Amino acid sequence: MRCRRCIVRSDFPGVLLDGTNLCNICSVWDSLEDRLTDFSALKEVFVSKLSDVKGQCEYDAVVGLSGGKDGAYVLHALTKEYGLRVLALTLDLGFMPNTFAKENAARVTSALGVEHETVRLPDELVRKLFSNYLSKPTTTTPCHLCTSILGLALGIKVAVEFKIPKIVAGLDRGQLLNKLHLKHARRRVLESIGPHKRDEARRNLEKTISRLNLYFRWLGLNANERSFILPSPRPISRLEEVPEIMMYFLHHPHDEEEIKRLLERETGWIRPDGDIGRGHFDCELKELAGEAANRLGLGGRLEYELSVDIREGALTRDQALARLAKEGDSSEGTQSPFHIVESRLGMSQSGFESKVDRLAKIAPYYAKGSNALIRAFGLGGRLEKLLFLIRPH
Ligand SMILES: [Zn+2]
Repeated sequence: MRCRRCIVRSDFPGVLLDGTNLCNICSVWDSLEDRLTDFSALKEVFVSKLSDVKGQCEYDAVVGLSGGKDGAYVLHALTKEYGLRVLALTLDLGFMPNTFAKENAARVTSALGVEHETVRLPDELVRKLFSNYLSKPTTTTPCHLCTSILGLALGIKVAVEFKIPKIVAGLDRGQLLNKLHLKHARRRVLESIGPHKRDEARRNLEKTISRLNLYFRWLGLNANERSFILPSPRPISRLEEVPEIMMYFLHHPHDEEEIKRLLERETGWIRPDGDIGRGHFDCELKELAGEAANRLGLGGRLEYELSVDIREGALTRDQALARLAKEGDSSEGTQSPFHIVESRLGMSQSGFESKVDRLAKIAPYYAKGSNALIRAFGLGGRLEKLLFLIRPH
């Protein structure tokens, strides 16, 4: 059953409906909405964090740029509205053979006169990372590895090595606010919109780097391979000020259509064909991720993210359901989308496919079991971390 206001379902792990069929994410949102949408106060915090560092180093901020609209928009805002010197950073793992996004990134950086660096990792290392990730017992979709792990790690590495004080991420509000029912996700959001605290920022960054380091060890990377992706801890302890990670769209509204129109007008950015919003249109692994999420039935990121749009009034519930139906139906080819693990990553397709099927059988029990535990003990602390760690995803 779906929440009566948004579209998350009661069989997603961690999602509970109350007596009136309102989900726990919606009720957390109701208690935080005033704070999270007071954009004049939020912008003030953003401005004050930037004014502390402006003009002190070669670059004031680094921004990730894939060629999509959000990174491009943040780049535009920071250079034109905030007058900052920004380094644009593209991560090229070789999964986007389509040149469209690259050309968009080039158009935007040249229109804005921004310096642009592309980070590439050795092919061997990319294959090892993704195949080891997809070989773990509970993982089926590589998007998490790409956006949350690698993007973060390389952003930090570049900021530390180039001595750039701010890392500004262009994640949209759907990506930032979709798991507010989880205590650790909520704490990150609230810390991020609070004032900058130097000691806390250093502690957080050191913790993030050591967590990432452990994560890459878990993925089987040796020290030399990890050094391509993470800064060594030593320069961090020597830095007087560590880079702070800021989320642009926690402090500013996100209007998809407005963003696209501005980029077209001011930077020559071109909207992709068949553009329907949240899809990552040209990644080779996109269909694999979509199909695996469908089979597991645990709610793809799309349902969580569209639900944020509903809560914020950007979409009606019916519009969100229509969009879900349209984007969820990506089965175009006759070939299984899992062939990519064999052709691209050197893994066994049948082995991967049977793992996904096994997980698909377990997933409903996992969801039921974890929701029963949450009902009994509540979320937060060790239970939340444990459920998060062992979830099929
Ligand atoms: Zn809801």
